Amino acid sequence: MTAAEIGRGLRAGKFTSIEVTRHFLERIDHAGQLNAFITVTPERAMQDAKSADARIARGEGGPLTGVPIAHKDIFCTDGVLTSAGSRMLSNFVAPYDATVVERLAAAGMVMLGKTNMDEFAMGSSNETSWYGPVRNPWDATKVPGGSSGGSAAAVAARLAPVATGTDTGGSIRQPGALTGLTGFKPTYGRVSRYGMIAFASSLDQAGVLSQSAEDAALVLAAMAGHDPRDSTSVDVAVPDYAAGLGASMNGLRIGVIREFFGEGLEQGTGRAVRTALEGFKAMGATIVELSLPNLPLSVPTYYVVAPAECSSNLSRFDGVRFGHRCPEPRDLLDMYRRSRGEGFGAEVKRRIMTGTYVLSAGYYDAYYLKAQKVRSLINADFHKAFNEVDVLMGPTTPTPAFAIGAKVDDPITMYLNDIYTIGANLAGLPAVSVPCGLADGLPVGLQIIGPHFAEQRLLAAAHAWQQETEWHRKLPPLFA
Ligand code: GLN
Repeated sequence: MTAAEIGRGLRAGKFTSIEVTRHFLERIDHAGQLNAFITVTPERAMQDAKSADARIARGEGGPLTGVPIAHKDIFCTDGVLTSAGSRMLSNFVAPYDATVVERLAAAGMVMLGKTNMDEFAMGSSNETSWYGPVRNPWDATKVPGGSSGGSAAAVAARLAPVATGTDTGGSIRQPGALTGLTGFKPTYGRVSRYGMIAFASSLDQAGVLSQSAEDAALVLAAMAGHDPRDSTSVDVAVPDYAAGLGASMNGLRIGVIREFFGEGLEQGTGRAVRTALEGFKAMGATIVELSLPNLPLSVPTYYVVAPAECSSNLSRFDGVRFGHRCPEPRDLLDMYRRSRGEGFGAEVKRRIMTGTYVLSAGYYDAYYLKAQKVRSLINADFHKAFNEVDVLMGPTTPTPAFAIGAKVDDPITMYLNDIYTIGANLAGLPAVSVPCGLADGLPVGLQIIGPHFAEQRLLAAAHAWQQETEWHRKLPPLFA
C-alpha cells in the first residue's frame, strides 16, 4: 500500500497504526542483507503509533497520521544517532529534531528509523558509507544509487511506505530512478534545511522518496514551508499539492532537452524514456525539442561549487566541537590531523582537498569564480527554456543500476552518473523522477524538471503518468 492508502485505511478503521508499524518493523528485521538502515527505532515507533491511534480515534487524524516513515540519516533526530553515514559522526546523538522531522512528526507520521547513505551525501551509489554499501532490492549485486540509497532501498523493498531524502546533485532522483520509485526534489528554499547536516549549502534540498506522486504530494505539503530558523527557506505559501493532482495534461508544453539524448545514454533507458514522451503526447501534451547549450558544463561546474562549499561546511568537524576524536593526541595539531584523518573516508577527503584548492588565493578566480559564472549561464539556459515550455523531460540517469564495485575506483565515471540531474540543483529548480519502464529487468526513471515553485505542475504530470501506467506499482520480485 502507498502511504496515502495506509492513511485512508487507518482513518476508516481497517487497521491501526500499531499494526501497520509492527508490520514494517518486521519487514525491516528480515531485510538486513540490504543494509538500508543505520538505526532502527522500534520503541519510538511504537510510541508514535500509539499516539497516532489515539489521535485518529479522536477524529483528529490527517492524511499521514499513523503512517510510518524512514528518515535519511542526515536529518537530526532528537536523542537518536545522526551519523550522516560517517565515522566522524558515529558518536553524534542529535539534541534536537530537524524541521523536516519535526513537521512530519506533527503530521502524525511514525518514525521507523534512520536510513543508510553515502558519507555526508557524497556519492551516487551508496558505497561511501562508513556503515557499508546498501544493496538494490531489484538485484542485490547492484547499487541502489545514492546518496539517499538507504531510503530508496527501504521504500523499494517496502520496509517503509515512504522516506525522506536530500538532493544536492541528484541524490533523491537518481536512487529513485534506480529502484523504481518516485523521487521528488523541491525548489531550493521550499523546504527548511534546519537540522539537515550541510554538504553544499547552496544546492542541498530535502525531499521525498515514495511509491507514487500522490504520496510525494502529501509528504511534501507536510514538510514544506517557511522556517525562520533557515534564512534560505522562502516565505511562499504551500499549496494543497494533493488537491492539484487531477490537472489535465492537455496542452502541457513539454521541452525535450537535446543534450540529454546524446552519447552515454544506454539504449534501453533511452527507449523507455522516449516511450514515456509518446505517452504524454497521447494525453494531449505537445513536445518540442530544445537545446540548453551550457548544460553539458553542469558536472564540472558542480564539482567545483559543491566541494568548495563542503570544504567550508565540514571544517566544523574537528574532534572538538563535533565528531570523532582520535585517541591520545600529542598536541592540538596532531589531534586535528588524526581526528579528521580517521573520521573522514576517501571520497570526503577528496572533496575537501578539491574544495580547499579551488578556494585558495591563487586559484579562486580560475576555478571557483569561473564556476559561479558558468552556473549563471546554466541558470539562464533554463530560464529561457521555461519561456517556451511548461516542463522539461528526459532521462534521470544514463543507465540503470550498475554493479556494486564497478565505479568506486573511478571517481570521474561515478560523477558522470549525475549528468542529467545536477543542472536542476545548480539552478535551484524542482524536479522529479518517475518510473517509466524496465531495462534488463531494472527500473528506468523519467525526469521532469519545472520552473521555480512549479511543484504542483510536476506532481500533476507525475500523477497523470501514474494513472496511465503500472510501472510505479512494480515490486522487486524478491520483496513482492
Ligand atoms: N552524486 C552527487 C555527489 O556525489 C550528488 C550527491 C547528492 O545529491 N547529495 O555529490
